[in-house]
Amino acid sequence: MTKFRDIIGQEMAIRHLKGAIGSGKVAHAYIFDGEKGMGKKTLSSVFVKALQCEEPLENRENTEPCGKCHSCIMADSGSHPDIITVTHEKPNSIGVDEIREQVVNDVMIRPYSSGRKVYIIPDAHLMTVQAQNSLLKTLEEPPGYAVIILLPDNKDMLLPTLISRSVCLPMRAVKNEEIAKFLMEKKGIPAYETETLVSFAQGNLGKAELLSESEDFKELWDEVRHLLTGIRKMSDVEVSAAASKAQQRKDQKEDYLSFLLLWFRDVLFLKSGGEEEGVIFKGEMRELTEASGYYSFERLNDIIEAIKEADSKMESNVNPEYTYELLFMKMR
Ligand SMILES: [Zn+2]
Repeated sequence: MTKFRDIIGQEMAIRHLKGAIGSGKVAHAYIFDGEKGMGKKTLSSVFVKALQCEEPLENRENTEPCGKCHSCIMADSGSHPDIITVTHEKPNSIGVDEIREQVVNDVMIRPYSSGRKVYIIPDAHLMTVQAQNSLLKTLEEPPGYAVIILLPDNKDMLLPTLISRSVCLPMRAVKNEEIAKFLMEKKGIPAYETETLVSFAQGNLGKAELLSESEDFKELWDEVRHLLTGIRKMSDVEVSAAASKAQQRKDQKEDYLSFLLLWFRDVLFLKSGGEEEGVIFKGEMRELTEASGYYSFERLNDIIEAIKEADSKMESNVNPEYTYELLFMKMR
């Protein structure tokens, strides 16, 4: 069972929540704000478990949930009657009826077994304006026992009036070293592979974990590596074929371009006298060193600019196959 001390990163939010539990000054509404993978769900589940824990605070280690009482066990199994996680039917919206039924009306019923009734609203950014307005009424005059936790991917999609009535805790990027340590210790990823995942995750632990398990991501990296090591000897026909293959990976477009960008940055870094220590693709030292001898500084800068340009071109719907082809020509 997860406790606050098992959570990687988010020290500021944790300090705040523990302070609230310790002092008994718990707000009626919280917003845990941050994109998918940043740990909102884990943090909210530990927080509500600690709030509902039956063990007196003085017997608990630093406001952690005890993990042994009836309440903690029910919370862990998802069957706590006073912890309500709001669900929604449509994948892309939470409607007013769902908020009314599961929160606004339900909150009028007193808690069953504890002094508090806690609501968690995952994907809170998907609430329609009507749904938010109906929730707002509850937040204006909440029953003393109610705690509502909103988990939006982006709080800017919530009404300002809703935000102003809540304690907002932004999820922060996790340090690269901590993500690397997690990948090595918990996922068994070899050290030289963690750097790639860390670069892609950009402080998002959930994304690092997802990528470390993703076959698509491994496949993509194999394809890009094949392209990068072979491109200098490719014929026009082969370049066209590679472009056509690349554009089929529509959902991985961003990762594809990121791989190219990071790889050429490594080449430029080595060419500028950088040491292996600072290289991202440590498993590719031989190819990277070879490439740093082949490309001039000017060409490397050109290529890096072209990759960035390709990204914005594809964003504005320029034909991706054509964009890849031009880019690969430049890399050749
Ligand atoms: Zn407990």
